[in-house]
Amino acid sequence: LTPKPTAANQRSDQALLVRGELVLTMEPEQPIIEDGAVAVQGADIVAVGEYAELARRFPSAPTLGSEHHWVLPGLVNAHNHGAMVSGSFRQGILDLPLERWLMRLYNSRLLDGQMSIAYLNTLHQNAQLISSGVTCTADFYYGDGSEPYLGAEHGLQGYQESGIRIALFLAAVNQPSVDNGDLEVFLDLLPKELAERAQALGPIQYNITEQDYLEGWSRVHRDFHESGGPINIMLGPDGPVRCTPDFLAAIKQKAKEYDTAIQMHLLETKYQMLYGRREKGQSLVKYLHGLAFLSPKVSFAHGIWLSPEDADLIADAGASVVHNPSSNLRLFDGIAPVQKMLSSGVNVGLGTDNMGFSDDNDLLDEMRLAALLQRVPGVRGHALSGQQALNMATMGSARALGLSDHIGSLKVGKRADLVTLSTTRMLAPFMNPLNDVREIIWRRARREDVCDVLINGRIVKKNGELTTINTARVREGLREWYEQLWAERGEEEQTIHEILAQVDPFVVNFFEEYERDDQGRTDYRYNAWSSREE
Ligand SMILES: [Zn+2]
Repeated sequence: LTPKPTAANQRSDQALLVRGELVLTMEPEQPIIEDGAVAVQGADIVAVGEYAELARRFPSAPTLGSEHHWVLPGLVNAHNHGAMVSGSFRQGILDLPLERWLMRLYNSRLLDGQMSIAYLNTLHQNAQLISSGVTCTADFYYGDGSEPYLGAEHGLQGYQESGIRIALFLAAVNQPSVDNGDLEVFLDLLPKELAERAQALGPIQYNITEQDYLEGWSRVHRDFHESGGPINIMLGPDGPVRCTPDFLAAIKQKAKEYDTAIQMHLLETKYQMLYGRREKGQSLVKYLHGLAFLSPKVSFAHGIWLSPEDADLIADAGASVVHNPSSNLRLFDGIAPVQKMLSSGVNVGLGTDNMGFSDDNDLLDEMRLAALLQRVPGVRGHALSGQQALNMATMGSARALGLSDHIGSLKVGKRADLVTLSTTRMLAPFMNPLNDVREIIWRRARREDVCDVLINGRIVKKNGELTTINTARVREGLREWYEQLWAERGEEEQTIHEILAQVDPFVVNFFEEYERDDQGRTDYRYNAWSSREE
């Protein structure tokens, strides 16, 4: 692994034109340029305009795309997990309500001591992301405190190879909490014999001191971070009650010192909302506000159970929420009130959370789901517009990651992160010219239409083929790895599953008891926020 490869040795300095029947810039002044092009030189966009004019300005530049393509900014996946969380389904962990799902995830021993598998997991995931037009992804990365780079180097090697732009939020946890799958919180509730067997499974694995985290993070930042480049090292306090207030303050201080972004899980389930009230006597957003934690550099993953007042606090601070509709549905969390967040002025990004609804990290699908889930029943037809849906997946996400100066739209001076969509299938057999292109894209665009993908000026997908990842080799490597692990640890894993299945009813009871604070509202609602206003 060579830290900090310079972008210059991965691309030529010759200009390249990316041409389309139209260029969707996501810039307010000129959102759509017909028969347009983007000129790329090195890592940067050097011109955006009409194709004929750019062809005159750059006569010897080769051209990607054609009048049968549309050009748009690369999509930005603003919340995701790689490392060991990637492929939890592959590891035999099925969808369950979040608290019970995390208990399965964190108590599995299948991947113990296997941090280096993060390299292949990352490549596998990046192949999925890049093929769906993603040019930048967040990775909320649970590492290993015993490694000098906290285990980040394994994932980073995958990111460097694939070329995708990465916002790596190194996860920080320093206290057990009821929402984090930590068995020790529940031992008192269990019959003695079961408690002993559960205790023998040990504490959750990511367990390092504040000092080790902060020092380790600085090392990763020093040796890998590239300001304005593809690798961005950021801070990831796991949740408002998964870190002590002192630790949150130290992380905030670190972010200020390094001018870097912070991401945190927030109000993913109803129980998190309820125990915020119980444990802190106030909403978790108010609690964070009281710690002066909110700022434009902070993004919150999920935010499903925000109250209107919480949304105002987040909007006033300029902080962001990252919406993860597939994950929210798969883990029984609810539907985030995205329309209301947007009308409160909250910046909203979009993420797959490693849980796309087809388990394949397709951000185009995620955008479709996000748009359709916001269709509140009623004759007024309140919905997200195509502009809002695409904005969430581009500028909204870029802003959430603190990277909107560099990516998220096609603008001179920004990095060359862009995508060509073939229109051949997308517009067939006939597309009424009255339809807005943004409305067409979120409804129709599929992974198979993503023709070319450039990241930081580097071509990572060309004519529908990935250029940096050998997917067959990666799949084969993962298959061998997991088969080996299963042969060695399958029996132990089955025992763990059985213990957890016995613990499960006690955990369910524990959380059901919380519901008394919520007047027994346990039924599924179309929209969490509107149900609470009834
Ligand atoms: Zn997450």
